[in-house]
Amino acid sequence: MNENYITLTIGKQKNIALIAHDGKKQELIKWCQDNAEILNQHFLCGTGTTARMITDGTGLPVRGYNSGPLGGDQQIGARIVEGKVDFVVFFSDPLTAAPHDPDVKALLRIAQVYDIPIAMNKASADFMLQSALMDQFYDHEVINFNKNIADRAKNMEK
Ligand code: PGA
Repeated sequence: MNENYITLTIGKQKNIALIAHDGKKQELIKWCQDNAEILNQHFLCGTGTTARMITDGTGLPVRGYNSGPLGGDQQIGARIVEGKVDFVVFFSDPLTAAPHDPDVKALLRIAQVYDIPIAMNKASADFMLQSALMDQFYDHEVINFNKNIADRAKNMEK
């Protein structure tokens, strides 16, 4: 066993974060309508405006964080670090510059660090949501953060 990694488990019921840039919000709402039956079996959250619009458009309960440009993406990143978000659907707009681009990059990076499934467009979201793993437990390896801190501190104390 490699002690640099620990095994974390994504539950059968996923904690799904939903985010859409403005130019993609209608597309995400439509996707949520089309997939409401599956989404309803999981816990949903999202950046503020996206969450509100999905609830208005589908009736699904979506816990809203701050609006993306006001830190909502960072809040979702923090929830990934805490193990409270384990699945992300993010319809980003590749054709429009956003003021919070660094926050978006940070979210993508932290999803990679924690090995969190993240769909950045509709096709990826379709494949992810149709996966047999959606109603199974899923074990994955993430960096052993306690050991990582201990090793770093030890190396720098020399
Ligand atoms: P919003 O934020 O849902 O509040 O619009 C999304 C984003 O732009 O990151």
